[in-house]
Amino acid sequence: MAIEAKHVRVRGIVQGVGFRPFVYRLARDGGLAGWILNAESGVEIHVEGQTEAIDGFVRSIEAQPPPAARIAELAVARADFQGFTQFVIRESAKQGVPTVRVSPDLPVCAACLRELLDPADRRYNYPYINCTECGPRFTIIRELPYDRERTTMAAWPMCGECFAEYHDPLDRRFHAQPVACPACGPQYHLQIDGRAIRAADSIAQAVQLLRSGKILAVKGLGGYHLACDARNAAAVFALRERKFRKERPFALMVSSVEVAKKLVELSPQAEALLVSVQRPIVLAPARASLDGIAPDNRELGVMLPYTPLHHLLFQAGAPDALVMTSANRSSEPIAYQDSDALNRLSGIADAFLIGEREIARRVDDSVARAGPFGPAVLRHARGYAPEAVASLPVTQPILALGADLKNSITLVVEGQAFVSQHIGDLNHFQAFEAFKETINDLCAMYEVRPDDLLIAHDLHPEYSSTAHALVMPGRHVAVQHHRAHVASVLAERREWESPVLGVSFDGTGFGDDGTIWGGEFFCGSLREGFTRVASLRPAQLAGGDAAARFPVQAAAGFLCQLSQAPDFCEPPFCFPQRYRQTQALLARNVRVFQTTSVGRLFDAAAALLGFTREISFEGQAAMWLEHIAAGSAPVAPYPFPLHGTELDFRPLLEALIADRLAGRNMSEVAAAFHAAVAAGIMEVVNARGLDIVVISGGVFQNALLMELLRKALGPRAWANQRVPANDGGISLGQAALASFASPDK
Ligand code: ZN
Ligand code: ZN
Ligand code: FE
Repeated sequence: MAIEAKHVRVRGIVQGVGFRPFVYRLARDGGLAGWILNAESGVEIHVEGQTEAIDGFVRSIEAQPPPAARIAELAVARADFQGFTQFVIRESAKQGVPTVRVSPDLPVCAACLRELLDPADRRYNYPYINCTECGPRFTIIRELPYDRERTTMAAWPMCGECFAEYHDPLDRRFHAQPVACPACGPQYHLQIDGRAIRAADSIAQAVQLLRSGKILAVKGLGGYHLACDARNAAAVFALRERKFRKERPFALMVSSVEVAKKLVELSPQAEALLVSVQRPIVLAPARASLDGIAPDNRELGVMLPYTPLHHLLFQAGAPDALVMTSANRSSEPIAYQDSDALNRLSGIADAFLIGEREIARRVDDSVARAGPFGPAVLRHARGYAPEAVASLPVTQPILALGADLKNSITLVVEGQAFVSQHIGDLNHFQAFEAFKETINDLCAMYEVRPDDLLIAHDLHPEYSSTAHALVMPGRHVAVQHHRAHVASVLAERREWESPVLGVSFDGTGFGDDGTIWGGEFFCGSLREGFTRVASLRPAQLAGGDAAARFPVQAAAGFLCQLSQAPDFCEPPFCFPQRYRQTQALLARNVRVFQTTSVGRLFDAAAALLGFTREISFEGQAAMWLEHIAAGSAPVAPYPFPLHGTELDFRPLLEALIADRLAGRNMSEVAAAFHAAVAAGIMEVVNARGLDIVVISGGVFQNALLMELLRKALGPRAWANQRVPANDGGISLGQAALASFASPDK
């Protein structure tokens, strides 16, 4: 029998996820000798033994790695036989630049959950239980390499028992950096009316509060949540009022998949997302209507418990569906430091459930949907960040700063694109602070010197992110917003050369000509760049930013182009006074801009169907319109013809208005509008005759529109999956386009 030696190098997320003990056990089971080592760029394995056993060993590594590991690359090479007699885990090599990937945070695993609930276990009811396959990572790491001294667990030296587990290669807590137990680790308590209730009683008390309709602030992995009973309307409305959150949907945490199935229609794909290690909030069609949770929305967002503390709350009898929403007021970033949380949430929460372990950085819950184009991330945060979402053919380090709304940033190191967690709206002071912190954080984590960076930013001269880019050292590349949307899809798919028709529909982005774009068609590829070939017919946008908040104000800029129109202040439209004021602005041509925004076209349609008040969160009118359309059987689209290079909205709106005046069923009118938008896209697709169509931009968060496009385009269409179609994906697209603008290309 042949005996040989092989060297195996594995790259990806292979540190801090139980990879070495897993390989160690595999080697022992296969009767192999050699060693494994955490190196700078992954793990290195030297293995000796029979050829078949080595082959099986390599196959097993690839086929069944630990659940949280992500193998990006596995290379096997011949090595010199050295005659090892056993397999060992060698000490880590710690020199040079840490390009090892940081693992995202992980939900508590099944084995830890069993111990957590086992009265005989020494970690019974201890909410900081974890192992190499579960627990916090990104949210406790202060610096790399990932060792306990450089995490927020540094303050708690291990007891003898934890120490023994930590050093035993056969233990599932071998080198689990946050390992702890009630004897040595952090504690937690419930703070209510200035009193602190210690550990054991705190869960029971917290559950009591939730059951009696109180609002609880709960410290989680990446920040505080505000929790209350989702079926207690009084509690839900009190939370809305205290949080200054009028109508934006609340996410729910449910005790089990069974409860989720009662609340939403859970397809097998949606269920797979729900139970995935990322544990995102999953948007799915609502089956139950819960007062005040997601008004005028066809979907509900549900997630499963992911920290041991969440499980303890449900075990102790917490309501099986809890509102679990980021602890903040309105659109501020989520609170994650104890003093700040106590401060900012004092008027909102009735009590605080606080653990002692600090949170190193703010990370929100992620949001995802199993859409017609596969699973798609809509908010990229906990569980996903800071995973590399794409690789780019570039050696130059690139920092892309994203857009101002739903900001995220992307750092490209050695061709790996790391997309940050969702940061938020940079017009908000605290979000802008978080934006700067995240830049420093990512650059420090990957030891990139700011001077070496190529900085990519939006073309918009008035974006805060642009202003910040321009004060940073290094070279700069401005990337047009809608091209970045299209590029984000191609970057995810590593499609550098493919010529595509890119469709980019959103609310607002700065165009090449200085007008406000948002309904754009491009031809080109990542390598060659994108040429604008068509767009929505330009409409007027009166009054600047306010037009995005008042659908009737947006409507005025479209309706003024119709040759014949009724008085929209009369029934059935009943537009408020603001409409007249906007007409006056338009007539005098004061503060009037030009826009090709499809987002505003959706607002106009929503206004014509009755959404005539101010919106209370971005995208609300379009979501309302989708909600109304969802009740309709399939209908014929309104006409939305392509005239030259412009999709003409006038016949569309005229037909819609005629139907409203004729009293057609509202649901059908909304559905015919959605069908028209899909048909308009098909007009351009057919006119250009390209094989592949890329769709991206905030408008494509609309599930109904996506279903229509899936039917019309089939597999010819590519959409975002790993980064959001909204502006959360802009930074990846900027990085991709910048990498082809880089001198080393
Ligand atoms: Zn575990
Ligand atoms: Zn201990
Ligand atoms: Fe956008």
